[in-house]
Amino acid sequence: PAADPAAGHDALLFRAFMKQKITVLGSTGSIGTNTLDVVARHREHYEVFALSAATQVDLMLRQCAEFKPAYAVMASAPHAKLLAEQLRSNGLATEVLQSPDALEQIASHPEVDAVMAAIVGAAGLAPCLAAARAGKRLLLANKEALVVGGALFMDTVKRHGATLLPIDSEHSAIFQCLPEDRASWPDRVDSLLLTASGGPFRLRDPATLSEITPEQACAHPNFSMGRKISVDSATMMNKALEVIEARWLFDMAPDKIKVVIHPQQIVHSMVQFKDASVLAQLGTPDMRVPIACGLAWPRRIASGAAPLDFAKLSALTFEEADAVRFPGLHLSWQALRASEGTTAVLNASNEVAVAAFLERRLAFDRIHAVNLRTLETLLPPTLGSLDDLLALDAQAREIAHTMARQWQLQ
Ligand code: NAD
Ligand code: MG
Repeated sequence: PAADPAAGHDALLFRAFMKQKITVLGSTGSIGTNTLDVVARHREHYEVFALSAATQVDLMLRQCAEFKPAYAVMASAPHAKLLAEQLRSNGLATEVLQSPDALEQIASHPEVDAVMAAIVGAAGLAPCLAAARAGKRLLLANKEALVVGGALFMDTVKRHGATLLPIDSEHSAIFQCLPEDRASWPDRVDSLLLTASGGPFRLRDPATLSEITPEQACAHPNFSMGRKISVDSATMMNKALEVIEARWLFDMAPDKIKVVIHPQQIVHSMVQFKDASVLAQLGTPDMRVPIACGLAWPRRIASGAAPLDFAKLSALTFEEADAVRFPGLHLSWQALRASEGTTAVLNASNEVAVAAFLERRLAFDRIHAVNLRTLETLLPPTLGSLDDLLALDAQAREIAHTMARQWQLQ
């Protein structure tokens, strides 16, 4: 059969040359602000259609003044009201949407071409699915949405002809290394090698992990990121989520996804082919690179990141992940081998445990204990719809809360 002209590389390229209207979900966060930084460098190609945030009204107001979106969404009614008042008193025309499905509306609006999904956690799943159902170009930073959504997420993307582009730096790297002809992957690709920084506690005595404070966990060596992903990087649960993310994005068997520690974060990930040849993607650790790559793909645009200076580069080193120090990493493969929905349980539990740690109610090394106990306690039922998934997510959160209370710090 003839290839679908609307789905091919040429169509993508053609569309990438037209001015794109963008919705940024989570615009006040680390990925959101980096996205707007790249967009601001290419105003002739990108126009901001809508922005969304949880609570940061002041920053949202400044973003509305700079990018003049048609719509803005805040997660809670009081923040939405405050933003609407401030927009009015500053003479700005952005309309604040307040309905319960406002995020889905701005993600699927007919005028929108591309959606940057940069909300943190499972809260981003419903708008991601809305964008996919509307056949949008979906730039996915929100890895938890895919970890929870799994097969349902990927089916929705496929069925509605959406274009899913990874923003997570490792997955962007793999995407760039893989052949464009997806059908040829089974014949050509042997395995995926995800690199991991090892986080701030790679060399710390495992016996002292219980003393780690939120401030120490959020001080990542190479990146400034949101607090949740910073803690996930410190426990390596971030890499566990990324293994699951890679399984779905690239339709790869779990045992063909490997993790290697690479503290300098210059090699962002690699693909090993059947003949043992390895392709890697390199660059300075700056999220604007994968963001620019996703925004413009298959074109390339300036990201604002500094190019690599090989003359000044220190040694690139690689080592095996320490299973004692990072017991959470292996939960990814275990959850992928278990029944469908187990990865959603793992994600929900981890969100609850990380929040408890950040609020100083739970010791750092208990995050893994909560996740393990929640996985042992809850056997996922058969899943069909988004509602089934959200019900499972809620149930897992309840169990994780109980576990976290049991180990609550005094
Ligand atoms: P962040 O905490 O800095 O920002 C999160 C954004 O989502 C903020 O705008 C916040 O207002 C909004 N938000 C939070 N909870 C919400 C809710 N319940 N409803 C609606 N909006 C909500 O986080 P981040 O570091 O930018 O990460 C965002 C996502 O990107 C995460 O899934 C993370 O894993 C992923 N990611 C981040 C990086 C990075 O370098 N920061 C790299 C790779 C992937
Ligand atoms: Mg990553």
